[in-house]
Amino acid sequence: MIYSHSRLSCFEQCPKKFELKYLLKVKVPEKQSIEAFMGGKVHETLEKLFVDLQHTKKNELKALLDYFEKVWKEDWRESILITKEGLTVEHYFELGKKCVANFYEKNHPFKVGVPIGIEKKITLDLNEDGKYKLTGRMDLLIQVGKNHFQVHDYKTYAKLPEQQKIDEDMQLAIYQMGVQKQFPEAKKIDLIWHYVVFQREGISHRSKKQLETLRKELIALIKKIEATEKFETKESGLCKYCSYEQVCPAWKHQEMLEKLPAKKYAVEEGVQLADKYAKLYAEKQELLEKIENQLEELKTEIFEYAKQHGFEVIQGTSHKLKIKTTEKLKFPGKGSEERSHLEALIRRHNLWTELSELDTTKLSHYLEEGKLPKTEEKELKKYAEKTETKTIYLSKIK
Ligand code: SF4
Repeated sequence: MIYSHSRLSCFEQCPKKFELKYLLKVKVPEKQSIEAFMGGKVHETLEKLFVDLQHTKKNELKALLDYFEKVWKEDWRESILITKEGLTVEHYFELGKKCVANFYEKNHPFKVGVPIGIEKKITLDLNEDGKYKLTGRMDLLIQVGKNHFQVHDYKTYAKLPEQQKIDEDMQLAIYQMGVQKQFPEAKKIDLIWHYVVFQREGISHRSKKQLETLRKELIALIKKIEATEKFETKESGLCKYCSYEQVCPAWKHQEMLEKLPAKKYAVEEGVQLADKYAKLYAEKQELLEKIENQLEELKTEIFEYAKQHGFEVIQGTSHKLKIKTTEKLKFPGKGSEERSHLEALIRRHNLWTELSELDTTKLSHYLEEGKLPKTEEKELKKYAEKTETKTIYLSKIK
Protein backbone atom coordinates (compact mmCIF):
# COMPACT_ATOMS: atom_id res chain seq x y z
CA MET A 1 0.00 0.00 0.00
CA ILE A 2 1.14 3.57 -0.63
CA TYR A 3 0.52 5.52 2.57
CA SER A 4 -0.38 9.14 3.10
CA HIS A 5 -0.71 11.44 6.08
CA SER A 6 -4.49 10.97 6.09
CA ARG A 7 -4.19 7.15 5.92
CA LEU A 8 -1.73 7.11 8.82
CA SER A 9 -3.90 9.51 10.85
CA CYS A 10 -6.92 7.34 10.11
CA PHE A 11 -5.12 4.31 11.61
CA GLU A 12 -4.16 6.31 14.68
CA GLN A 13 -7.68 7.67 15.07
CA CYS A 14 -9.30 4.24 14.72
CA PRO A 15 -7.65 1.04 13.41
CA LYS A 16 -11.08 -0.44 12.54
CA LYS A 17 -11.93 2.52 10.33
CA PHE A 18 -8.58 2.12 8.57
CA GLU A 19 -9.34 -1.56 7.94
CA LEU A 20 -12.88 -0.90 6.65
CA LYS A 21 -11.82 2.00 4.44
CA TYR A 22 -8.42 1.05 3.04
CA LEU A 23 -8.08 -2.72 3.41
CA LEU A 24 -11.61 -4.08 3.01
CA LYS A 25 -12.72 -1.09 0.91
CA VAL A 26 -16.28 -1.46 2.23
CA LYS A 27 -18.73 0.57 0.17
CA VAL A 28 -20.92 2.85 2.32
CA PRO A 29 -22.57 6.20 1.67
CA GLU A 30 -20.05 8.90 2.58
CA LYS A 31 -20.81 11.04 5.63
CA GLN A 32 -19.47 14.55 5.52
CA SER A 33 -19.50 17.17 8.25
CA ILE A 34 -20.29 20.74 7.35
CA GLU A 35 -16.88 21.75 8.69
CA ALA A 36 -15.19 19.42 6.18
CA PHE A 37 -17.49 20.61 3.37
CA MET A 38 -16.83 24.26 4.14
CA GLY A 39 -13.07 23.62 4.37
CA GLY A 40 -13.17 21.89 0.99
CA LYS A 41 -14.89 24.85 -0.67
CA VAL A 42 -12.40 27.34 0.84
CA HIS A 43 -9.56 25.18 -0.52
CA GLU A 44 -11.15 25.03 -3.98
CA THR A 45 -11.53 28.81 -4.03
CA LEU A 46 -7.94 29.48 -2.96
CA GLU A 47 -6.76 26.92 -5.51
CA LYS A 48 -8.56 28.89 -8.20
CA LEU A 49 -6.92 32.10 -6.95
CA PHE A 50 -3.41 30.70 -7.45
CA VAL A 51 -4.14 28.75 -10.65
CA ASP A 52 -5.51 31.97 -12.17
CA LEU A 53 -2.49 33.92 -10.89
CA GLN A 54 -0.21 31.44 -12.65
CA HIS A 55 -2.10 32.34 -15.82
CA THR A 56 -1.62 36.07 -15.07
CA LYS A 57 -5.28 36.48 -14.12
CA LYS A 58 -5.77 38.55 -10.96
CA ASN A 59 -9.13 37.94 -9.33
CA GLU A 60 -10.84 40.61 -7.30
CA LEU A 61 -12.08 39.45 -3.91
CA LYS A 62 -15.69 39.72 -5.14
CA ALA A 63 -14.98 37.31 -8.01
CA LEU A 64 -13.52 34.81 -5.57
CA LEU A 65 -16.48 35.08 -3.22
CA ASP A 66 -18.83 34.52 -6.17
CA TYR A 67 -16.81 31.45 -7.09
CA PHE A 68 -17.04 30.20 -3.48
CA GLU A 69 -20.82 30.62 -3.59
CA LYS A 70 -21.06 28.84 -6.94
CA VAL A 71 -19.10 25.72 -5.87
CA TRP A 72 -20.91 25.68 -2.52
CA LYS A 73 -24.32 25.66 -4.21
CA GLU A 74 -23.28 23.14 -6.86
CA ASP A 75 -22.01 20.60 -4.34
CA TRP A 76 -24.34 21.15 -1.39
CA ARG A 77 -26.20 17.99 -0.28
CA GLU A 78 -28.88 17.71 2.39
CA SER A 79 -27.01 14.77 3.95
CA ILE A 80 -24.15 17.02 5.10
CA LEU A 81 -23.99 16.87 8.90
CA ILE A 82 -24.42 19.90 11.12
CA THR A 83 -23.87 18.80 14.70
CA LYS A 84 -23.08 22.00 16.60
CA GLU A 85 -26.19 23.21 18.35
CA GLY A 86 -27.50 26.59 17.29
CA LEU A 87 -25.47 26.75 14.06
CA THR A 88 -27.05 26.62 10.61
CA VAL A 89 -25.87 26.20 7.00
CA GLU A 90 -25.94 29.98 6.65
CA HIS A 91 -23.48 30.40 9.53
CA TYR A 92 -21.01 28.04 7.87
CA PHE A 93 -21.52 29.62 4.46
CA GLU A 94 -20.72 33.05 5.92
CA LEU A 95 -17.74 31.64 7.80
CA GLY A 96 -16.40 30.13 4.57
CA LYS A 97 -16.68 33.50 2.84
CA LYS A 98 -14.92 35.14 5.78
CA CYS A 99 -12.06 32.61 5.46
CA VAL A 100 -11.58 33.43 1.78
CA ALA A 101 -11.72 37.18 2.46
CA ASN A 102 -9.31 36.90 5.41
CA PHE A 103 -6.75 35.07 3.31
CA TYR A 104 -7.17 37.45 0.40
CA GLU A 105 -6.82 40.60 2.48
CA LYS A 106 -3.82 39.33 4.43
CA ASN A 107 -1.87 38.15 1.36
CA HIS A 108 -2.95 40.53 -1.38
CA PRO A 109 -1.25 41.32 -3.87
CA PHE A 110 0.33 37.83 -3.65
CA LYS A 111 3.78 38.96 -4.60
CA VAL A 112 5.82 36.86 -2.19
CA GLY A 113 7.70 34.41 -4.43
CA VAL A 114 6.57 32.25 -7.31
CA PRO A 115 3.85 29.61 -6.80
CA ILE A 116 5.53 26.52 -8.26
CA GLY A 117 3.02 23.96 -7.06
CA ILE A 118 -0.73 24.19 -6.44
CA GLU A 119 -2.32 21.07 -4.98
CA LYS A 120 1.08 19.60 -5.71
CA LYS A 121 1.54 15.87 -5.31
CA ILE A 122 4.64 14.54 -3.58
CA THR A 123 5.83 10.97 -3.28
CA LEU A 124 8.42 9.63 -0.90
CA ASP A 125 10.21 6.35 -0.55
CA LEU A 126 11.11 6.44 3.15
CA ASN A 127 13.71 3.68 3.08
CA GLU A 128 14.67 3.94 -0.59
CA ASP A 129 13.74 0.27 -1.00
CA GLY A 130 10.13 0.64 -2.16
CA LYS A 131 8.73 -0.85 1.08
CA TYR A 132 7.56 2.32 2.82
CA LYS A 133 6.06 4.69 0.31
CA LEU A 134 4.22 7.89 1.18
CA THR A 135 2.28 10.29 -0.95
CA GLY A 136 0.61 13.63 -0.22
CA ARG A 137 -0.76 16.80 -1.73
CA MET A 138 0.43 20.25 -0.70
CA ASP A 139 -2.04 23.11 -0.87
CA LEU A 140 0.62 25.45 -2.19
CA LEU A 141 4.39 25.46 -2.75
CA ILE A 142 6.11 28.79 -3.24
CA GLN A 143 9.70 29.46 -4.18
CA VAL A 144 10.77 32.71 -2.54
CA GLY A 145 14.49 32.60 -3.37
CA LYS A 146 17.07 30.41 -5.11
CA ASN A 147 17.31 28.05 -2.15
CA HIS A 148 14.28 29.15 -0.16
CA PHE A 149 10.85 27.49 -0.38
CA GLN A 150 7.56 27.74 1.49
CA VAL A 151 4.99 24.98 2.01
CA HIS A 152 1.53 26.49 2.66
CA ASP A 153 -1.51 24.83 4.15
CA TYR A 154 -4.96 26.34 4.69
CA LYS A 155 -6.76 25.47 7.92
CA THR A 156 -10.39 26.37 8.50
CA TYR A 157 -10.67 25.14 12.11
CA ALA A 158 -12.34 27.52 14.48
CA LYS A 159 -9.54 26.88 16.98
CA LEU A 160 -5.98 28.18 17.05
CA PRO A 161 -3.40 25.56 17.99
CA GLU A 162 -0.44 26.31 20.26
CA GLN A 163 3.04 26.64 18.72
CA GLN A 164 4.08 23.31 20.27
CA LYS A 165 1.31 21.54 18.33
CA ILE A 166 2.39 23.27 15.13
CA ASP A 167 6.00 22.20 15.72
CA GLU A 168 4.89 18.61 16.26
CA ASP A 169 2.56 18.41 13.26
CA MET A 170 3.82 15.77 10.85
CA GLN A 171 1.81 16.57 7.74
CA LEU A 172 3.81 19.56 6.56
CA ALA A 173 7.07 17.99 7.72
CA ILE A 174 6.30 15.09 5.37
CA TYR A 175 5.81 17.64 2.58
CA GLN A 176 9.16 19.20 3.50
CA MET A 177 10.78 15.79 2.96
CA GLY A 178 9.09 15.65 -0.45
CA VAL A 179 10.25 19.17 -1.39
CA GLN A 180 13.81 18.37 -0.36
CA LYS A 181 13.79 15.28 -2.50
CA GLN A 182 12.48 17.12 -5.56
CA PHE A 183 14.52 20.30 -5.01
CA PRO A 184 17.86 19.23 -3.51
CA GLU A 185 19.04 22.86 -3.74
CA ALA A 186 16.48 23.85 -1.03
CA LYS A 187 18.42 25.14 1.98
CA LYS A 188 15.52 26.79 3.82
CA ILE A 189 11.94 25.54 3.86
CA ASP A 190 9.25 27.41 5.80
CA LEU A 191 6.20 25.40 6.82
CA ILE A 192 3.27 27.82 6.97
CA TRP A 193 -0.25 27.15 8.21
CA HIS A 194 -2.88 29.77 7.38
CA TYR A 195 -5.53 29.79 10.10
CA VAL A 196 -7.93 31.63 7.86
CA VAL A 197 -10.75 31.92 10.38
CA PHE A 198 -8.49 34.16 12.47
CA GLN A 199 -6.38 35.71 9.70
CA ARG A 200 -3.28 34.37 11.45
CA GLU A 201 -0.37 32.21 10.43
CA GLY A 202 1.64 29.52 12.17
CA ILE A 203 5.23 28.92 11.03
CA SER A 204 7.53 26.03 11.80
CA HIS A 205 10.97 24.86 10.67
CA ARG A 206 12.34 21.35 10.90
CA SER A 207 15.99 20.43 11.18
CA LYS A 208 17.64 17.50 9.39
CA LYS A 209 17.73 15.66 12.71
CA GLN A 210 14.00 16.18 13.29
CA LEU A 211 13.19 14.95 9.79
CA GLU A 212 15.34 11.87 10.33
CA THR A 213 13.47 11.14 13.58
CA LEU A 214 10.17 11.62 11.75
CA ARG A 215 11.30 9.30 8.93
CA LYS A 216 12.04 6.56 11.49
CA GLU A 217 8.72 7.16 13.28
CA LEU A 218 6.81 6.91 10.01
CA ILE A 219 8.51 3.63 9.11
CA ALA A 220 7.76 2.29 12.61
CA LEU A 221 4.09 3.28 12.24
CA ILE A 222 3.82 1.61 8.82
CA LYS A 223 5.46 -1.54 10.23
CA LYS A 224 2.95 -1.48 13.09
CA ILE A 225 0.03 -1.19 10.65
CA GLU A 226 1.36 -4.02 8.52
CA ALA A 227 1.86 -6.25 11.55
CA THR A 228 -1.67 -5.61 12.86
CA GLU A 229 -3.85 -8.68 12.74
CA LYS A 230 -6.84 -7.44 14.67
CA PHE A 231 -7.93 -3.90 13.85
CA GLU A 232 -9.64 -2.73 17.04
CA THR A 233 -12.47 -0.23 17.18
CA LYS A 234 -11.58 3.02 18.94
CA GLU A 235 -14.75 4.83 19.87
CA SER A 236 -14.60 8.60 20.18
CA GLY A 237 -16.57 11.75 19.50
CA LEU A 238 -15.48 11.37 15.87
CA CYS A 239 -17.64 8.27 15.39
CA LYS A 240 -20.66 10.45 14.55
CA TYR A 241 -18.79 11.70 11.47
CA CYS A 242 -17.55 8.23 10.48
CA SER A 243 -19.09 6.81 7.30
CA TYR A 244 -18.52 3.26 8.60
CA GLU A 245 -20.68 3.60 11.71
CA GLN A 246 -23.42 1.42 10.21
CA VAL A 247 -21.02 -1.50 9.59
CA CYS A 248 -18.80 -0.93 12.64
CA PRO A 249 -19.02 -3.63 15.34
CA ALA A 250 -19.09 -0.89 17.99
CA TRP A 251 -22.27 0.65 16.56
CA LYS A 252 -23.95 -2.04 14.44
CA HIS A 253 -26.28 -3.15 17.22
CA GLN A 254 -27.46 0.39 17.92
CA GLU A 255 -27.97 0.95 14.19
CA MET A 256 -30.04 -2.22 14.05
CA LEU A 257 -32.14 -1.21 17.08
CA GLU A 258 -32.90 2.20 15.64
CA LYS A 259 -34.73 0.48 12.80
CA LEU A 260 -36.91 -1.62 15.15
CA PRO A 261 -40.42 -0.55 16.20
CA ALA A 262 -40.55 0.50 19.88
CA LYS A 263 -42.41 -2.70 20.87
CA LYS A 264 -39.70 -4.97 19.49
CA TYR A 265 -36.83 -2.94 20.93
CA ALA A 266 -37.25 -4.00 24.56
CA VAL A 267 -37.59 -7.71 23.74
CA GLU A 268 -34.67 -7.91 21.34
CA GLU A 269 -32.19 -10.56 22.52
CA GLY A 270 -29.15 -8.25 22.77
CA VAL A 271 -31.12 -5.60 24.68
CA GLN A 272 -32.31 -8.23 27.15
CA LEU A 273 -28.81 -9.63 27.64
CA ALA A 274 -27.34 -6.15 28.21
CA ASP A 275 -30.12 -5.22 30.66
CA LYS A 276 -29.74 -8.49 32.58
CA TYR A 277 -25.97 -7.96 32.84
CA ALA A 278 -26.39 -4.35 33.99
CA LYS A 279 -28.92 -5.44 36.65
CA LEU A 280 -26.69 -8.22 38.01
CA TYR A 281 -23.68 -5.94 38.00
CA ALA A 282 -25.57 -3.31 39.99
CA GLU A 283 -26.64 -5.99 42.48
CA LYS A 284 -23.02 -7.12 42.82
CA GLN A 285 -21.87 -3.55 43.49
CA GLU A 286 -24.58 -3.11 46.11
CA LEU A 287 -23.58 -6.34 47.80
CA LEU A 288 -19.91 -5.38 47.72
CA GLU A 289 -20.68 -2.04 49.30
CA LYS A 290 -22.74 -3.72 52.02
CA ILE A 291 -19.93 -6.19 52.78
CA GLU A 292 -17.31 -3.39 52.72
CA ASN A 293 -19.34 -1.49 55.34
CA GLN A 294 -19.72 -4.60 57.49
CA LEU A 295 -15.96 -5.26 57.25
CA GLU A 296 -15.20 -1.67 58.29
CA GLU A 297 -17.44 -1.99 61.35
CA LEU A 298 -15.86 -5.30 62.24
CA LYS A 299 -12.39 -3.84 61.81
CA THR A 300 -13.16 -1.13 64.35
CA GLU A 301 -14.39 -3.77 66.83
CA ILE A 302 -11.28 -5.93 66.24
CA PHE A 303 -8.89 -3.00 66.82
CA GLU A 304 -10.69 -2.03 70.00
CA TYR A 305 -10.62 -5.63 71.28
CA ALA A 306 -6.89 -5.97 70.40
CA LYS A 307 -6.03 -2.67 72.08
CA GLN A 308 -7.97 -3.56 75.21
CA HIS A 309 -6.08 -6.85 75.63
CA GLY A 310 -2.73 -5.84 74.12
CA PHE A 311 -3.02 -8.46 71.33
CA GLU A 312 -1.26 -8.19 67.98
CA VAL A 313 -2.56 -11.47 66.62
CA ILE A 314 -6.09 -12.74 67.14
CA GLN A 315 -6.70 -16.41 66.62
CA GLY A 316 -9.85 -17.84 65.00
CA THR A 317 -10.67 -21.53 64.37
CA SER A 318 -9.22 -21.69 60.87
CA HIS A 319 -7.72 -18.24 60.35
CA LYS A 320 -5.79 -15.70 62.36
CA LEU A 321 -5.66 -11.91 62.13
CA LYS A 322 -2.46 -9.90 62.41
CA ILE A 323 -3.20 -6.37 63.58
CA LYS A 324 -0.98 -3.50 62.48
CA THR A 325 -1.20 0.26 62.87
CA THR A 326 1.21 2.41 60.84
CA GLU A 327 1.70 6.15 60.88
CA LYS A 328 1.97 8.01 57.61
CA LEU A 329 2.42 11.64 56.62
CA LYS A 330 -0.33 13.12 54.53
CA PHE A 331 0.19 16.23 52.37
CA PRO A 332 -2.34 18.66 50.84
CA GLY A 333 -3.99 17.22 47.73
CA LYS A 334 -3.07 18.27 44.17
CA GLY A 335 -4.82 21.39 42.97
CA SER A 336 -5.45 22.77 46.48
CA GLU A 337 -4.18 26.19 47.55
CA GLU A 338 -2.12 24.62 50.33
CA ARG A 339 -0.46 22.32 47.81
CA SER A 340 0.63 25.34 45.73
CA HIS A 341 2.22 26.87 48.84
CA LEU A 342 4.01 23.61 49.58
CA GLU A 343 5.27 23.39 45.99
CA ALA A 344 6.50 26.98 46.13
CA LEU A 345 8.32 26.22 49.38
CA ILE A 346 9.98 23.16 47.85
CA ARG A 347 11.17 25.23 44.91
CA ARG A 348 12.45 27.94 47.21
CA HIS A 349 14.58 25.38 49.04
CA ASN A 350 15.88 24.01 45.70
CA LEU A 351 14.37 20.59 46.40
CA TRP A 352 12.06 20.44 43.38
CA THR A 353 14.31 18.24 41.21
CA GLU A 354 15.51 16.17 44.14
CA LEU A 355 11.92 15.41 45.12
CA SER A 356 10.98 14.53 41.52
CA GLU A 357 8.70 17.56 41.21
CA LEU A 358 7.05 16.78 44.55
CA ASP A 359 6.90 13.07 45.03
CA THR A 360 5.11 13.00 48.39
CA THR A 361 6.32 9.46 49.20
CA LYS A 362 9.92 10.61 48.81
CA LEU A 363 9.19 13.76 50.83
CA SER A 364 7.71 11.61 53.64
CA HIS A 365 10.90 9.50 53.71
CA TYR A 366 13.09 12.60 53.79
CA LEU A 367 11.13 14.03 56.70
CA GLU A 368 10.88 10.76 58.61
CA GLU A 369 14.53 9.91 58.15
CA GLY A 370 15.72 13.44 58.97
CA LYS A 371 17.43 13.84 55.61
CA LEU A 372 16.66 17.55 55.30
CA PRO A 373 18.34 20.53 56.98
CA LYS A 374 16.48 21.54 60.15
CA THR A 375 15.02 24.83 58.81
CA GLU A 376 13.57 23.16 55.69
CA GLU A 377 12.30 20.24 57.77
CA LYS A 378 10.50 22.57 60.15
CA GLU A 379 8.84 24.56 57.37
CA LEU A 380 7.82 21.51 55.34
CA LYS A 381 6.45 19.65 58.35
CA LYS A 382 3.79 22.34 58.71
CA TYR A 383 2.17 20.86 55.60
CA ALA A 384 2.37 17.26 56.77
CA GLU A 385 -0.48 15.77 58.71
CA LYS A 386 0.13 12.52 60.59
CA THR A 387 -2.45 9.87 59.76
CA GLU A 388 -2.87 6.32 61.00
CA THR A 389 -3.45 3.36 58.74
CA LYS A 390 -4.96 0.34 60.32
CA THR A 391 -4.42 -2.94 58.51
CA ILE A 392 -5.50 -6.47 59.23
CA TYR A 393 -3.64 -9.31 57.53
CA LEU A 394 -5.72 -12.43 57.28
CA SER A 395 -3.93 -15.75 56.94
CA LYS A 396 -4.81 -19.42 57.27
CA ILE A 397 -3.68 -21.16 60.39
CA LYS A 398 -1.19 -23.87 59.42
S1 SF4 B 1 -17.66 4.32 14.00
FE1 SF4 B 1 -16.03 4.90 15.41
S2 SF4 B 1 -15.23 2.97 16.19
FE2 SF4 B 1 -16.41 2.49 14.34
S3 SF4 B 1 -14.94 2.50 12.68
FE3 SF4 B 1 -15.79 4.54 12.77
S4 SF4 B 1 -14.40 5.69 14.08
FE4 SF4 B 1 -13.98 3.52 14.41
